[in-house]
Amino acid sequence: MARIYITTPLYYVNAEPHLGHTYTTVVADTLKRWHQSIGDEAFLLTGTDEHGDKIAQAAAANETTPKEYADRISGLFRSTWDNCGIAYDHFIRTTDESHQSYVQKILQKIYDAGDIYFGEYGGFYCYGCERFYTEKELVEGRCPDHQTTPEYISEKNYFFRMSQYQPHLLETIQAKPDLIRPERYRTEVLAFLREPLEDLCISRPTSRLQWGIPLPFDANYVTYVWFDALLNYVSALEYRGEDALQTFWPKAQHLIAKDILKPHAIYWPTMLMAAGLPLYDHLNVHGYWVMDSGKMSKSLGNVIRPLEMKARFGMDAFRYFLLREMAFGQDAKFSEDALVTRINADLANNLGNLVSRVLAMQQKYFAGIVQPLSSAWAAEDTALRDTFAHAEQELNGFMADLQFHRALEALWSALDHANRYVVQTAPFTLVKDPAKQSRVGEVLHHLLEVVRTLSRLLAPFMPDTARQLRALLAIEDDPWKAPWGQGFVAGHKINPPKVLFPRIETEAKK
Ligand SMILES: [Zn+2]
Repeated sequence: MARIYITTPLYYVNAEPHLGHTYTTVVADTLKRWHQSIGDEAFLLTGTDEHGDKIAQAAAANETTPKEYADRISGLFRSTWDNCGIAYDHFIRTTDESHQSYVQKILQKIYDAGDIYFGEYGGFYCYGCERFYTEKELVEGRCPDHQTTPEYISEKNYFFRMSQYQPHLLETIQAKPDLIRPERYRTEVLAFLREPLEDLCISRPTSRLQWGIPLPFDANYVTYVWFDALLNYVSALEYRGEDALQTFWPKAQHLIAKDILKPHAIYWPTMLMAAGLPLYDHLNVHGYWVMDSGKMSKSLGNVIRPLEMKARFGMDAFRYFLLREMAFGQDAKFSEDALVTRINADLANNLGNLVSRVLAMQQKYFAGIVQPLSSAWAAEDTALRDTFAHAEQELNGFMADLQFHRALEALWSALDHANRYVVQTAPFTLVKDPAKQSRVGEVLHHLLEVVRTLSRLLAPFMPDTARQLRALLAIEDDPWKAPWGQGFVAGHKINPPKVLFPRIETEAKK
C-alpha cells in the first residue's frame, strides 16, 4: 500500500477562513479522498499558525490575550473545516506544546551544529507584513503592500546559515524536475537562486515580542516565523510516533498558494537539510482567485466565506465549482454568475437530470426493481461501459498531475455520452412495445451502472453527492469493487429519484 501525506499551509490566525483558505483545503481533501479511492493510505494535515507581532497586536486591539485571540480564530478554522466536511486527520496549532518542544529541539540541534549564529540586523520593518524591507524594495519610502512608512530597526538577532545550503538546494531542485510544480513556479525559484542567498534572521528579542517560542539557547529571544511555522509539517508526524514520521514524511505533498512559494521552496528545504531530515516529495503551488469586483477585501464587502457559500449553494456544488473552474497553478476568476452557470449547466442539467431520469424510468416501468442483463450486450452497451472505463483512466492520470479541472472534464464527457445513450436507446419509446420490455430493463440496468460508477468516481470531488447516489441506489454497503454489469442483482430495489441540484433561478439581465 502506497502512503501519501498531504498538507495545507498552517493558516495564520489574523483572518477568518475565506475563499483562498477554502480552495487549498478543498484541494487537499479531494486529493486525500482520491488517493484513498485508488487504495493508498493517506494522511491529511491542516491547522493554524498563531505566533508573531500581528497576532499580539490584534489581541491587544481586541483587549484580549494573544492566546485567547488565537484560540478563538483557530477554533473558527477548525469548526469551519468540520462544517465543510473536510476529512483532515490532524489539526495542528503552533501553540501546541508538542509542536513548541519539537521546534526547540530542532533549533538546538542546528545551533549545536554551528548553523545558527548571533549577529547584527538592521532594516526597515513593516509591522503589517511582519518583515524587513531593503531600501530598494520600498516604494517612495513606504511598504508596497500597506503604504505605511516602515520603522528602521537595528538589533542583535540570531541567523540561520541558509546561504551555505544554496548549492545543495540548487542541485536538489535541478535533479528532481517535479519537486516544485507546476513548472512555472520551479522556473521562478531557479531564477531566484541565480542570486546569492542571504542568511535568514530567525529571532526577535523578547523586549519587542513575547508571543513566540523561546529560543532554547537564549531566553532573551523568541523564534520568529519560519522555524515555528514550517516545522509543523514534521512535528505533527513526530507527535504520532517514529513510524508515522518515517513512512509519511518522505511522501509529503505540500499544497500552497503562490504567495508563500519562497518560504516553502527555499527556506524550508534548507532548514530540512540543516536538521538532517529528508526533503518533502512535492511542493504543489496554486494561483489566486481573482474577484470580478476587484481584490477581495472586507471594506469592499466581497469576501467569500465558505460556510455562507455552503448555506446558499451546497458544499458539493461549491467544491465542484472551485475544482472545475481553476486550472491548478494558474489564477482563476471568481464570480457568482460563473458559479450559478456551472451549477445549472453541469450539475442540475447534466448530472442531476440524467440521474433523476434514470431513476424515474426505473420506478415507472419496473417499480424500482432492477431487471436482469442478458449475456449478449448490444454494441452501444459495451461502448457506454468502455467510455466510463476510459474516463476513469483519464481521471486518474489527471489527478496524479493535480489537474482537477481536467479530471472533471473527462468525467463530464462520459456523462455526455450517457445522455446520448439515453437518446439513442430511447427506453421511453421502447417501453410502449410489449415485445421490448426486456431490452428496456437492460438499458436501464446499464444506466444504473452509470449512476453507480458516478457515485464512485465523484466521491473525491463531491463526497456528499456520492453518498446520496449510493443511498438512491440502495447500495450504501457497495464496496465499489463489482465490475460493470455485476453491481446489481436482478430483483434489487432502488429508490425513487430526488432533486440533487435544484436549478438556481437568476433574475433576468436588464
Ligand atoms: Zn507592509
